[in-house]
Amino acid sequence: LYNMVQDLKGNIRVYCRIRPIFNVEAKNVIDHIGDDGSLVVVDPLKPQKDKRKIFQFNHVFGPTATQYDVFRETRPLVRSVMDGYNVCIFAYGQTGSGKTHTMCGPAGGLANELGINYLAVNDLFQLSDERKDIVEYRIQVQMIRSCASDDSLVLPDATMCPVKSTTDVINLMKLGEGNRAVGSTAINNRSSRSHSVLTVHVHGEDVSGSILRSCLHLVDLAGSERVDKSEVTGDGLKEAQHINKSLACLGDVIAALAQKNSHIPYRNSKLTLLLQNALGGNAKTLMFAHVNPEGDSFGETMSTLKFAQRVSTV
Ligand code: ADP
Ligand code: MG
Repeated sequence: LYNMVQDLKGNIRVYCRIRPIFNVEAKNVIDHIGDDGSLVVVDPLKPQKDKRKIFQFNHVFGPTATQYDVFRETRPLVRSVMDGYNVCIFAYGQTGSGKTHTMCGPAGGLANELGINYLAVNDLFQLSDERKDIVEYRIQVQMIRSCASDDSLVLPDATMCPVKSTTDVINLMKLGEGNRAVGSTAINNRSSRSHSVLTVHVHGEDVSGSILRSCLHLVDLAGSERVDKSEVTGDGLKEAQHINKSLACLGDVIAALAQKNSHIPYRNSKLTLLLQNALGGNAKTLMFAHVNPEGDSFGETMSTLKFAQRVSTV
C-alpha cells in the first residue's frame, strides 16, 4: 500500500466554525478571524478593547465558508483512513450552532450543501476506485445513535451495511435520521440529547495479500449547552447532567491525549469506550467547535471555545 505523504500536523487538531447570524437584530460576538487560526471574540455587554478574548485553533471557518471549504481542510485526514489510520471527527457546540449542518448538511438537504459525512464517504469511494489495480477495498457503514441521557449506548441502527455508492450512504443516513414526520422540533430535541455516530469501516487487501483495516468515525455530538437548573427538573435534569458528563469525559480524553498523559480515561463514558481504538495511538482526531455568533449566545460560545482550546495542541 502506498502511504500518501501528507502533512497532517500532529494527531489532534481543532477547527472552529462560525455560522451566519440569522437574527438581524443580534449583535455579533466575533471581533476578528485570523488566517492563522486565531479568533477574537467580544462580549456584547463589555465591548471595551481590553475585554476581548483571544483563542488559537488550527483553523477558523467564518460564516461565509462553504461546505467544500470545510471539506478541503478535512480531506487529507479522511484520505489517511485508506492508508490504515483510524480517524475520529467530532462536531461540538450548543444546539443550533451548526453541528448537523457541518456533518450532514442543511435540514432541507440541498444537493450542493451536503456535509462532511457525504463528502468524506464519496471521497473514499473515489480513492478506492483510483487505487483499484493495487488494492481491493471494501467499505461498510454503521449508524449509531447513543442515548446520552443515561450514558447508555443504544444501538438501534448499528447494523453493518456494505455500501457501493454514495447513494447507498445517503439513503442510509436518511434512515438513520428516522421518521421526519415526527416534526423538526422533535428531531432537534432528540438530536440535541444524543450523540449520533456514522462509522465507516474500511477493509483493504493489496496485490501481495497484506490486509489493512481502519475506520472513520463521524460524530455529531449532543448539544453542549449548560442547562439552567431552574428550568429543568426530574428526568430532564438527570438527562442534561448525563449529557454534560459524557461531553466532559470526551474533553478529558482528548485533553489527556493532547498532553500525552500516560493515563487516558477512556472508561469514564460509553462514547469514549466505543471510540477507544480510534482515539490515541496512531489515530487522528479532529474536533469542530461550532459557534453561534449572536450576542445572546455569548456565554455558551465562551464555554465552547474554552472547551475547544483545552483539547487543542496549538
Ligand atoms: P445543531 O446541529 O448544532 O443543533 P444545525 O446544524 O441544525 O445546528 O443548525 C441550525 C440552523 O442553522 C439550521 O437551519 C442550519 O441549516 C443553519 N446553519 C448552521 N450552520 C450554517 C452555515 N454554516 N451556513 C448556513 N446555515 C447554517
Ligand atoms: Mg443537530
